[in-house]
Order: sequence, then structure tokens, then C-alpha cells
Amino acid sequence: METTSNFSITILGNSAAIPTKNSHLSSQVVVNHNNYYLIDCGEGTQLQLIRYKIKYHKIDNIFISHLHGDHFFGLIGLLSTYHLLGREKPLNIYGPPALKLLIEMQLKVVQTKLKYELLFHELDNDNYNPIFENKDISVYSFPLVHRVPTWGFKFEQKQKKLNIKKSFVELFNPSIEEILNIKNGENFVCKDGAIIPNNEITTPPQQPLSYAYCSDTRYDISIMKYIIDVSVLYHEATFDSSMQDKAHEKFHSTARDAANMAKNANATKLILGHFSARNKELTSLLAEACVIFENTIISEEGIEYLIS
Ligand SMILES: [Zn+2]
Repeated sequence: METTSNFSITILGNSAAIPTKNSHLSSQVVVNHNNYYLIDCGEGTQLQLIRYKIKYHKIDNIFISHLHGDHFFGLIGLLSTYHLLGREKPLNIYGPPALKLLIEMQLKVVQTKLKYELLFHELDNDNYNPIFENKDISVYSFPLVHRVPTWGFKFEQKQKKLNIKKSFVELFNPSIEEILNIKNGENFVCKDGAIIPNNEITTPPQQPLSYAYCSDTRYDISIMKYIIDVSVLYHEATFDSSMQDKAHEKFHSTARDAANMAKNANATKLILGHFSARNKELTSLLAEACVIFENTIISEEGIEYLIS
């Protein structure tokens, strides 16, 4: 699959805990302006990357939400493949502190010295933390409520600059410096000293879009403040609401919980995932979520969802 959108996610796995013939463990790829980010890396992730023709050599940043096997057992395999393929550029891994120990121990036991540098970034507190940024996007971690320390991630596009009207450029042929100034909001001064107000020669930029990943977690209203007004929310829906008690006991959410979170956070769209193999069909999850939050979909593996 060729990911062409400016901002999208492709689900590689949406199954909880145990894979089935047709569903894989948690992992997904976020693409923004041709930069690739991997969230979680359950067993089989590298096979899914290959199956869906994701350019996985472009992944330079991997975000691991927590240390339950269904979210990271695929990591050592992927790291080994990069090594065998001769990767040289560094790879950043953001995850719980013990992940470094786990990976380094495995590499030591199998006597592999990677050809590239692994840079670990520990998620180690309960705040809303900026953990990565480049010129296009910022990534934040925030605490979820699960049986072990778990973090959600929010990808937020940066505010873009003003767009200059083509008709103005053709008429006045501004210099590069003048263009940059106008994009930053300054007025244009003509050669005869006349001033053209900025709002006459520009149009507003597109509103920045955002994507939040909340898996795994119990429904907890304290999470809402981290994801207010998010464009697309991926939220776990391990069970339907007939298993509300089980969800609470296991620190998971129902589809109804996920919809309440999307509604309270004023999200634009909700994608449900992390489904228990006990769910024979997923239509009941979709139905109960849509009653509360209409713009809900069931995630499908291999589908690229545009963030819009
Ligand atoms: Zn899980």
C-alpha cells in the first residue's frame, strides 16, 4: 500500500491479547508529510508491514504504549530485520523504562550487535509530555489507566503559516524575504510606500489536525483533558457493554466507554479497536457506540484512514 496522504494512519493489528486467523495484535503506522511513525509493535507486526507494502525502512520513531506482550512482542523481530537489511540510521524508541532492559537483554543473549544505534526515550511520569517534534508535527505522551503503567500518544500537526494569494504574487512579484514576512502576518509595502494589509493578500492556513491513540485503558474521565478537540481518536473497545464489569475489572473499555470519551472530548471521528476474540461479530460494538457518538467506525486492518 502506498501511503500518499499528508496525515493518515494504517491499522496493522486491532486484536486484543490473542491473535486470530484474520486479526493481528496491536500496531499501526502514522504517516505525516512522508514521515513514518509506528505505534505499538505486537507479534507479527513486521509481517503486516510487508503485507500492506508499508515503507517500513522509513520508520525512525517507534512508540510503545505499555509492556503487555500484545503491544511489543514484535519489536525484537523488527529490530533484527532492520539489522539484517543493513540499516545504518538511528532508530528512536519511546516506551516504559524496562523496555530498554528487555531489548538489550535479548540482543545480548543472541550475541547481536546492531549495525545501527537504538536510542531509548523513557516514558516515566504521569504528565502530558512533548516527546518528539519536527517542523510538521509534535507528539505528546499522556497517562492511561491500565493494570501496568500505560501511555497514550497524541500527534498534533503544527500551525501552518498564512497562504499568499496567487493573484498578489503575479501582480507584485515579492522577494523571498517579503513572502516569508507576509506568511508571518506582516503587511506588504509597495515601492511607492503604499501599504497593502495582510488580510487582503492572504488566506488562513488549514487548521492543524490531530490524532490520539488510547489503548489500553479503562474509561477514566481524567484522560479527556489530553485529547480535547482531537480530529481522530483511536480508542480501545475490548468488549461490548454487556461485559462492562469485566472491562472495568480488567482495566479495559467497552465500545460505549470509547464513544463517551470521544463525545466528551469533542473528537471529530472515533475509530474502535483492540477487540477481544470473544466478540463473535463487531456490529454490536459499532451500534452501541453510534448511539452516543455517531461518527464512529470499526477499524479494519490494512486500511489507511485519512486524518481530516
Ligand atoms: Zn492490549
